[in-house]
Amino acid sequence: MSTPRALPESLTPHLRALAARSPAVARQFVAAAEESMASPFDLADPIGDAAKSPLPGLVHRYPDRVLLLPTMACAAHCRFCFRRDRLGEGRMTAAEIAAALDYVAARPQIHEVILSGGDPLTLPAAELAALLARIDAIPSVEVARLHTRLPVHDPARARRAAAALAAGRAARWVAVHVNHADELTAETRAALAALRGAGCFLVSQTVLLAGVNDSVETLSALFRALVALGVKPYYLHHPDRAAGTEHFRVPLARGREIMESLRGGLSGLALPAYILDIPGGHGKVWATDAFVAPAADGGWNVRAPDGSLHPYPADAPAATTVAPDGAK
Ligand code: SF4
Repeated sequence: MSTPRALPESLTPHLRALAARSPAVARQFVAAAEESMASPFDLADPIGDAAKSPLPGLVHRYPDRVLLLPTMACAAHCRFCFRRDRLGEGRMTAAEIAAALDYVAARPQIHEVILSGGDPLTLPAAELAALLARIDAIPSVEVARLHTRLPVHDPARARRAAAALAAGRAARWVAVHVNHADELTAETRAALAALRGAGCFLVSQTVLLAGVNDSVETLSALFRALVALGVKPYYLHHPDRAAGTEHFRVPLARGREIMESLRGGLSGLALPAYILDIPGGHGKVWATDAFVAPAADGGWNVRAPDGSLHPYPADAPAATTVAPDGAK
């Protein structure tokens, strides 16, 4: 086991002010001593991007969609980041983007291009608009989806960036990464309104994190607030096994219990899918009995979309140091 890579602490002024009054935000963004601790269950490439990458910056895991990583920069560094080893690697070159778009254009079965990273909304507005226009020019692509945390990291910048997303041929979907209701400040709400105003459809993704949002009450409050803002809760991700993030891991059994309680208390509109990304690049599955079964060793067997079976370890509950008691 090697010591996890040290990720520089990076907070925007907006996050620093918010972290001062929200333990849940502080835990996500202020560097902690636990990050230097290695675990035997850490993975260098937690979701197997490299195994499914035919070209630099392009991940093709499912037949009908691709992931494009035009930048590995984010406006702030989430301490639990599953691509933390790649953060700061820089941007795709013009030649790499051209090759990736040629790859997409040559495969008409690809209907959706997902921009992630890093955070694609941190690209200069003209570059992002030009990239989206080139995606629009590929007739088989019907959806351009952007994954971003900029409305939480730097809401004023996200408001300005929203204009770059306006009026394209392919439908614009934005998956906003939000983990706690404390993140939905007035400024962040204004950024979400700007994205909606630009014509984007909004969904959310949340990572289940020990000491941040691993309770039914915290997640219910978040998902209800998102629906009220016109954002459909889409994914609740089981935390990936990136090195240096063990203190954020929630046992899969506990995540399934939380999800069961949420299912009883929230409308379908407010209920996301609880998702496990199978290590090794085998894809995402719902963490339900249809795909996940207890194994004899106390861990789990997970069935991938292609029917193959994969072991998944049982985690011990993380020793959290911060109660998820919301902003003061
Ligand atoms: S926004 Fe996503 S990619 Fe960026 S630091 Fe946070 S988790 Fe990592």
